[in-house]
Amino acid sequence: MNMLDIIYKKRGGGKLTLEEIGFFVSGYTGGQIPDYQAAAFLMAVYFNKLDREETYMLTRAMRDSGDVIDLSGIKGIKVDKHSTGGVGDKTTLIVAPMAAAAGVPIAKMSGRGLGFTGGTVDKMESIPGFKTSLEKSEFINLVNSAGISVIGQIAHIAPADKKIYALRDTTATVENLSLIASSVMSKKLASGSDAIVLDVKCGNGAFMENFNDACELGRLMVDIGNDDGKKTVAVITDMDQPLGNAVGNSLEVIEAIETLKGCGPSDITELSLALAGIMIYAGGRAASMAEGYGLAGKTLNDGSALVKFREFVKGQGGDSAVVDDYGLFPQAAFSEDVICDEEGFISGIETRSVGFASQHSGAGRATKDDPIDMAAGIALCRKVGDRAAKGDILATVYGNSAEKVGNAAAELGNAFHISGEAPGKRELIKKVIK
Ligand code: URA
Repeated sequence: MNMLDIIYKKRGGGKLTLEEIGFFVSGYTGGQIPDYQAAAFLMAVYFNKLDREETYMLTRAMRDSGDVIDLSGIKGIKVDKHSTGGVGDKTTLIVAPMAAAAGVPIAKMSGRGLGFTGGTVDKMESIPGFKTSLEKSEFINLVNSAGISVIGQIAHIAPADKKIYALRDTTATVENLSLIASSVMSKKLASGSDAIVLDVKCGNGAFMENFNDACELGRLMVDIGNDDGKKTVAVITDMDQPLGNAVGNSLEVIEAIETLKGCGPSDITELSLALAGIMIYAGGRAASMAEGYGLAGKTLNDGSALVKFREFVKGQGGDSAVVDDYGLFPQAAFSEDVICDEEGFISGIETRSVGFASQHSGAGRATKDDPIDMAAGIALCRKVGDRAAKGDILATVYGNSAEKVGNAAAELGNAFHISGEAPGKRELIKKVIK
């Protein structure tokens, strides 16, 4: 078998065998297949697609390229949650303590941010003392004692995906349904949970801009998860504007805490209740998603989710006093307002531009080793549908470099569209696929 024949086959629209997919995955991960051949293969896949069977085979081959975590030392049904990536998405910090407070063990591995999207691990590290790197035994003990732990990768999970994703990122081959589904699910299947809840973002700040594509991606991932024996549910949600009002690490953690206190923005609260409700259902603590939703609401109303959040922060070495004193978070030395220069309704927000403006304020990374400014980011004062008058503040940019803050504010000004007419009502939760 050789890679050139496999490229020819896919270029001509042929169906790949298990052996051919395995040959590509192990050969590229092991360094025997060069980047130029892997890139040509991915472009052939991009144009000629993989069918379901090929997608399943690719997912499993990437899952098996590294460690498959054994979480059997944790009692109960472990539920993982994953978002396909968006701007201002801090829901893990809210739904994990909500589901844990309802009795679902949360043993989750999260990632760091890159480009216009943030990462949960970076956000958590804005809490003074918080450790995102634990030994596996420590992680398991914490979930058994506190019911919750969220950390960075502890093992060599799906190294094939890591290498292939990095190549896709630089060869314009990210936006393919089979490649995204196999990339996400190879990591989810390797991370040891029993059930998976997927938040598939759809809109101008997501990989999937189109609703039908997002549904197809959701369906594919749900089928892959269920086929592997893990109860999997996908929710298609709006990413045509940032989620909540805060974008940037410590700003997002503060917004997550406010939501746990019952004072969060309505979109974040609504989505968190829905996702936590599904996690509670998938974790066997509710007979239906509707009952799970009710139990999720109870954890907010009775304060148990906030208590669980404090326990979670303390368990990982963080200073839980941040819950009561936001002054303990890293503070920004500079801020600049983005001022509205016309009267009207906010008819649209270019979500990716908000994500990039946040990155450029210092909150994100352009390459994986860039340092980040935990205090940097954006507080939005207006969202889609809101009215704004000339002179109103649309958003404020924060950070510790005056130059970066100024540049990000100028960039952010162009992300708002203003019109004389109010836009139609938008749906946050568009579809549930199970
Ligand atoms: N997130 C992933 O992990 N992989 C993709 O391909 C796209 C988003």
